[in-house]
Amino acid sequence: MSPDRILSSGGGELPARVDVVVVGAGITGASVAHQLARRGVSVVVLEQARRPGAGATGASGGMVRAYDQDPVVAELALPSLAVYRDPACWASGRAPLHAVGAVSVADPGQALALGEAAVRINGALGTSARLVADRAEVCGIRLAGGVALVEPEAGWVAPTEVTGDWLLQAGADGAVVRHGVRVHEVAARGGRPVVVTDAGEVSAGAVVAAVGPWAADPVPGLRSVTPVRSRSIQVTIVERRPPAPHHATFVDLRTGLYAKPVGADRTLIGMPHLVWGSPVDAEPDPVHARATVSALTAHLPWLATAAQLTAVRAADAYGGPAAHGRAAALLEPTGVPHTWSVRGWNGGGVKTAPEAGRRIADACLADALTELA
Ligand SMILES: Cc1cc2nc3c(=O)[nH]c(=O)nc-3n(C[C@H](O)[C@H](O)[C@H](O)COP(=O)(O)OP(=O)(O)OC[C@H]3O[C@@H](n4cnc5c(N)ncnc54)[C@H](O)[C@@H]3O)c2cc1C
Repeated sequence: MSPDRILSSGGGELPARVDVVVVGAGITGASVAHQLARRGVSVVVLEQARRPGAGATGASGGMVRAYDQDPVVAELALPSLAVYRDPACWASGRAPLHAVGAVSVADPGQALALGEAAVRINGALGTSARLVADRAEVCGIRLAGGVALVEPEAGWVAPTEVTGDWLLQAGADGAVVRHGVRVHEVAARGGRPVVVTDAGEVSAGAVVAAVGPWAADPVPGLRSVTPVRSRSIQVTIVERRPPAPHHATFVDLRTGLYAKPVGADRTLIGMPHLVWGSPVDAEPDPVHARATVSALTAHLPWLATAAQLTAVRAADAYGGPAAHGRAAALLEPTGVPHTWSVRGWNGGGVKTAPEAGRRIADACLADALTELA
């Protein structure tokens, strides 16, 4: 898809007034905008960067699966996987999912829960998820003493492509999508939000801030009442040469280690990087890159001799326990009327984006239009 097509929707002056302003055109803002525009809501999307995928979305590995230990995430991830598999949901007419399989490794004590999850997933999606408890290796992944939930129909998507498709669909449904426009402030005037940008002001029925890691230190008017912190996420790309086997995407729920294949001969590997307050453009940490290779060798033994090609570092927004405790709270109030901040996705915003966007659009529509009437 041509980036120009995404960048040009609704050029010219910003409208003086719309139903909803979405701040940030990462995968979350794009999903929300697409869902609002298809419901006939007037939407403006404002993105400070001149290119799509400037934040967490552009660096993301895009691994998607239905299973998650966190029931809030699992509830969003399952219907989201259905959307990623369905060609009819996409402007391109092509489902974005690369169904290389997804392996979730867990402590053997979790076998019963994983087996039940497989039944639930298969019942909802008609898939062939299964528990593997009696093997040392599955789908090219050593289980290192764990058991595994295998989802053969899951895998990964390219997050920037998904974002571009949604922005294109939003534009086709009448949304104004502007890259290179920074929001400086959201102020309350007459009980409604006014979005102040370097390209003029827009008054709105409601504002949704989908600013990813910028939510930790947002512009005035967009600070959510529940604290958000940014945390570093760093991944390393390594060469995968024969006899190293093809493998599925994988996460070890005991350690947070993960990996995914990139094309025919590369693999992305990652390990939690507990650096808080990290900017999205921080330099990769070579010590962490080496430690990641070493830790992942338990699951991918061929890593011991693989060439390391590059490390990519970015950050995501992390909500605290309060955000996790409030199951349905995908939107946090900010203190400015009708202005909401999307919850932090804690490193998992791609696998939840389709369903999260749908639910946020519903909530936001109710807020923007009901009270305007
Ligand atoms: C290296 C890495 C690997 C990951 N791997 C996975 C994975 O395998 N699976 C998964 O599900 N998740 C993964 N994640 C997490 C996932 O990518 C994020 O949760 C998701 O991309 C967050 O999207 P977002 O739209 O909320 O934020 P972002 O993509 O950061 O978008 C926010 C946007 O807001 C814009 N913005 C900020 N402030 C302003 C302003 N004042 N005015 C205008 N625009 C503004 C920014 O420029 C940015 O484009 C990974 C993340 C990283 C960094």
